[in-house]
Amino acid sequence: MAHVIVIGAGVVGCASAWALTRAGHQVTIVDKNPSVCGGASARNGAQLSYAYGDALASPGLLRHLPAILMRRDPAYRVWLAPDPEFLVWGLRFLRNATASRFRGNTTALLALAARTQALLPDVVETHGLKFDYAASGKMILYPDAAAFAKARHGHALKTSLGIRQDLLTRDEATRLEPALAHYRDSIEGVVWSPDDAAGRPTAFCKGLVDGLEREGGLVTLFGKEVQKLIVTRGRVAGVEFRDHSPLEADAVVLATGHSSGSLRMPWSSIWPVQGYSVTVPATDGAMRTSITDLKRKIVFARLGDQIRIAGNADIGPRPIAFRAKRFDALTAGARAAFSTGFDLSGELGAWSEARPCTPSSQPIIRASGPAGLFLNLGHGTLGWTLSLGAAERLVEVMRTSIR
Ligand SMILES: Cc1cc2nc3c(=O)[nH]c(=O)nc-3n(C[C@H](O)[C@H](O)[C@H](O)COP(=O)(O)OP(=O)(O)OC[C@H]3O[C@@H](n4cnc5c(N)ncnc54)[C@H](O)[C@@H]3O)c2cc1C
Repeated sequence: MAHVIVIGAGVVGCASAWALTRAGHQVTIVDKNPSVCGGASARNGAQLSYAYGDALASPGLLRHLPAILMRRDPAYRVWLAPDPEFLVWGLRFLRNATASRFRGNTTALLALAARTQALLPDVVETHGLKFDYAASGKMILYPDAAAFAKARHGHALKTSLGIRQDLLTRDEATRLEPALAHYRDSIEGVVWSPDDAAGRPTAFCKGLVDGLEREGGLVTLFGKEVQKLIVTRGRVAGVEFRDHSPLEADAVVLATGHSSGSLRMPWSSIWPVQGYSVTVPATDGAMRTSITDLKRKIVFARLGDQIRIAGNADIGPRPIAFRAKRFDALTAGARAAFSTGFDLSGELGAWSEARPCTPSSQPIIRASGPAGLFLNLGHGTLGWTLSLGAAERLVEVMRTSIR
């Protein structure tokens, strides 16, 4: 049994802690925030998109790039950052936008997502987790014939991989999800993924971490920022906190998302892609399924008696900054999409964070630098969906290095 420190208590760090304790290790999870999920995992889109799993860089996005750069697509904003890392990240992102790389990246993401899907029921049952989970499927709404024709390619890939997905007309989809009757625009077709789900990552992580702590395999240290790694004779021996206190370990896992403070490795291939969300009361006619409005690139997820609305993909200089106009664009888009189903009139509690994106959209799960250091980083737009599968992969990677 080894003592492993996991730095970062977002969905990826909490899932890593779970997988490491399951493998018999003693784990300490550390975060600079006062509790779990203080970063990008907190109020993300909440969708467990097992069947979507598409890489961000795609031939479609490449064709759409001029419109994005000219700010004709409300969902994207690019501010060119005067930073060589950004330039290199951008070029590598574009290199991943070919049809064959998109297919390879998407297939790899779907495999990790499928592992999360397979592992989740046991984790939920073992730890009695309550997180407004509902396996009520997901619909992607396509506004026009050209877009829906392209969706057929994606559908063919998914079905060839054994993923359940159906192509529906608006009437067929409305029979399954009556809330579509309140959708204001035309719908050419719908991609329906009946096995997709949604749930609150924060409640999931809190329940999981509390359970592991009670069982004795996990210690939590919140409100503690790791300033540096302690390396002795080429091997990680622990970490040093901002207050200079040390903590010894046999191995360290970085699950620090897009912002790791002084631990950030230059040229780490992770760039923040910022998004916004709001969580509001569900009202009469609210959706039960998760819905992605492709025209506006806004996602809606039902979480108990609330609706989580998330969107925007903003790329610019680091560190990220909250832009009120971009939050307003999200709520205006939600209002324009549905005439009823949620109440946007009260206190909105605007939220913004950034997806830790790699050029390929594939997470970085590997050993790095000194012996005993491992990375579980860069889960991009799908960290919640990939979390348990990525954690399982991490333990496989670590198996030969630590005992
Ligand atoms: C608007 C939006 C919508 C999204 N929707 C979805 C969705 O519907 N489905 C989905 O699957 N994914 C979604 N995502 C993506 C998902 O949220 C991310 O991929 C995921 O949260 C990344 O998790 P993480 O644990 O790697 O990072 P984080 O959640 O950011 O956690 C990293 C943690 O590391 C800590 N940390 C960093 N450095 C240090 C240090 N030096 N010392 C101590 N602690 C440190 C931070 O405080 C932070 O808590 C969305 C993201 C956004 C922004």
